[in-house]
Amino acid sequence: MSPFPAATLQVVPVGDTAVPPWLLDELAGRMAARVTLGAPLPVQAGWVDAERGQMRSDAVVDALIGRANGRSDDPERHWLLAVADADLYAPGRDFVFGEATVGGCCAVIGLARLRTQGGGDPGLFRRRVLAEAVHELGHVAGLPHCARERCVMFFSATLADTDRKGFEPCQACAAALQGLGAKRSA
Ligand SMILES: [Zn+2]
Ligand SMILES: [Zn+2]
Repeated sequence: MSPFPAATLQVVPVGDTAVPPWLLDELAGRMAARVTLGAPLPVQAGWVDAERGQMRSDAVVDALIGRANGRSDDPERHWLLAVADADLYAPGRDFVFGEATVGGCCAVIGLARLRTQGGGDPGLFRRRVLAEAVHELGHVAGLPHCARERCVMFFSATLADTDRKGFEPCQACAAALQGLGAKRSA
């Protein structure tokens, strides 16, 4: 995969989420960036809807943006990816696998739903986590959704979509990523 246009990526656990160590290794291998584990983001009042048993993805992203803006380095080059061991939702949606600021700094993925429907298999779970992480980071880089169902930037409405698309971009998205990278580092 072409390098993402970031200098560093901080992977941020939400609450007491145990971030899988291989996620950092996989992302470091895919990005021309230093990948580190950041301090946990405390779960705030109002993030979790107890009745739904779900967490608001937009609230997590807002908190990440707050953290990014509180630092002195350029948020466009220093990204944050939150990982929540939760089922995420956004207003008007039953659930989301993740959310990102397109062409921004910040994204979140949720792990709980990726464990269902065969996700007890460690290999499948790992591929799903990676697909959703790369997808959201593609948005952070500035990529929109892609109509090719085997491209990582294809929109996942279901886990079957996630399992089909895998974690590699199509040629067009890889080329677009490279262009966005050149633009950002110029
Ligand atoms: Zn998307
Ligand atoms: Zn594509």
